[in-house]
Amino acid sequence: MFKKILIANRGEIACRVMETAAKLGIRTVAVYSDADAGAKHVAMADEAYSIGPAPVAESYLKIDAIIEVCRQSGAEAVHPGYGFLSENPDFVDALDRAGIAFIGPSAASIRAMGLKDAAKALMVKSGVPVVPGYHGDNQEADFLKLQAGRIGYPVLIKARAGGGGKGMRRVDGPQDFAEALRGAKREGEASFGDGRVLIEKYLTMPRHIEIQVFGDSHGNAVHLFERDCSLQRRHQKVIEEAPAPGMSEEMRSAMGKAAVTAARAIDYCGAGTIEFIADVSEGLRADRFYFMEMNTRLQVEHPVTEMITGEDLVEWQLRVASGEPLPKSQEDLSFDGWAFEARLYAEDAPKGFLPAIGTLEHLALPETSARIDSGVRAGDDITPYYDPMIAKIIAHGPTREAALGKLLASLEATEVAGCVTNAGFLAALCRHAGFAGGEVDTGLIDRDLEELIAEPAMPEDAIALAALTALGLTRPARGADPFETLAGWLIWSASRQFALLEIAGDRRDVEVHALGNRRFAVHLEDGARDYALIEVDAGAITYECGGRRARAVVASGRKGLTVFMGGHAYPVGLPDTLSADEEAGAAGDQLIAPMPGLVKVLTAKTGDAVTKGQPLLVLEAMKMEHTLRAPRDGAIGEVLVSEGDQVTDGTLLLALAEETDAAA
Ligand code: ADP
Repeated sequence: MFKKILIANRGEIACRVMETAAKLGIRTVAVYSDADAGAKHVAMADEAYSIGPAPVAESYLKIDAIIEVCRQSGAEAVHPGYGFLSENPDFVDALDRAGIAFIGPSAASIRAMGLKDAAKALMVKSGVPVVPGYHGDNQEADFLKLQAGRIGYPVLIKARAGGGGKGMRRVDGPQDFAEALRGAKREGEASFGDGRVLIEKYLTMPRHIEIQVFGDSHGNAVHLFERDCSLQRRHQKVIEEAPAPGMSEEMRSAMGKAAVTAARAIDYCGAGTIEFIADVSEGLRADRFYFMEMNTRLQVEHPVTEMITGEDLVEWQLRVASGEPLPKSQEDLSFDGWAFEARLYAEDAPKGFLPAIGTLEHLALPETSARIDSGVRAGDDITPYYDPMIAKIIAHGPTREAALGKLLASLEATEVAGCVTNAGFLAALCRHAGFAGGEVDTGLIDRDLEELIAEPAMPEDAIALAALTALGLTRPARGADPFETLAGWLIWSASRQFALLEIAGDRRDVEVHALGNRRFAVHLEDGARDYALIEVDAGAITYECGGRRARAVVASGRKGLTVFMGGHAYPVGLPDTLSADEEAGAAGDQLIAPMPGLVKVLTAKTGDAVTKGQPLLVLEAMKMEHTLRAPRDGAIGEVLVSEGDQVTDGTLLLALAEETDAAA
């Protein structure tokens, strides 16, 4: 076994790998960019080395810098995590030349599966079923359109080098083909430096079911059952589970066999995943699953497999890479219970899932009810440079229902302030009747998106606690200082005060009367209510109102407060009263960059008449394209950017002309 390994990654997966290494007595070496100098993975490692500036091309993707750190530190092997260099065969070759082991498959295996078109051709040869389509060399637009017509719409255009849902476009008819092809090629170029595509029949009722495989250097190969990753948004996984609901033994064994055949076809060594798509228009059927691609690395969602099998897949990786045989044979492997993983992201679901950035001013993750894989701590920043994942929340239970209940409870107990997250959206998914009933398919989220991203109205109790906190009336009683304990009764402070709050875009002036002894009358929409503060401990407030005792958490941050109540997070702005008038009126007339990015496409020019919702600009951020639309009907007053501009968060991109009576 290795004595020291380097982890060429960051975030939760770097931390995850280090946990297993520590368990096995292996010393760990971290690498980090300037943006990550204070990151958790750096703090966790035995040694850490800086490898360059924040952009990944200048740090985490720099092969030479990483090999140099191996030399300096004496690391014998490199674990690549997922993403970054994990599926880069040139990296494996370079490590080989330097005499350093790669904790993963051979460069040849990665190359064989690296491009979706070549991988499909190889699978056809090995007798593994693939999705019908065109995966040949001819890339002429007209030819490809002809192929799409042959396959029959709807079709899916995929960047052959694609991953993470990037470079993929569904096309419903020939009229949309040319534009979709351009988009897929553009994204393929931008993300992978490869604009070539393949075309597949688009299955309208698909489930994504993948098989975890493992091979060793002694010619053994096994599978560790399936994961269902059908809950997706824009082809990206949102919640994964294992086993797959409704899976029959017959189908499981057919898929397992096909997956092992695929792995053997490339003499696979290490952890890998064979992704299949199942056509469930007539239910799950053992003859209706097709190979999509192989991921030649550890997957983000590997923990659900670990939870049901009791195996540590990173330990398997380390053993296999150091030359040991697989720890278990197929017959020895079994699974138990059910597991779910939810990906908690810094993103704004109601605003089209825009990636968010910010400082995690408050972070409480449900460590007691779930397994938490996270690479951040309270106080850390979510930066625009990397994937905005905050944590993976993994719940296991004896049945699907029990595991899902645990996942929901864990999401409801998750508290993040300082940047918006998708926690509410994930919890809404857990409550979705179809999902709870096991009716999962990749279209579920889109079909019910509105209901899933609806934000509940802020309860009056939450508004009251926000007002009390804004006025400084919820500071914990310290006992010794009578002025602290009698907050609200201070001689110099008025017993009648107003808190100006901004809630869901509206301003509210909330009147508060101090009644003494930590009791307050708060004037709310439906009249005044009396609140008694029973206990306040670091933002956790136990209060009584109308004979009911309840608890909530109020986190204070730079931009305002966040109230966590009943499993929901309610952000509350604390507007500066002086700037109130300036800000009002600005909204709705401007397009402001919601995050740093590149202006990819700009369709508007000054004077153009536009209608509400019309796409005006495509911003590329974190390798994804985001379409920004007209906030209302009107005319373009001013365009302040051009295609190709790099803009920062908050940049004014374009402004609509003032509304005139004639236009209205
Ligand atoms: P990536 O490598 O970018 O993750 P995949 O080929 O793995 O791309 O596909 C990602 C997701 O896109 C799948 O999980 C599935 O939801 C959807 N998808 C892929 N191929 C098809 C298809 N032929 N028909 C319908 N949906 C598909």
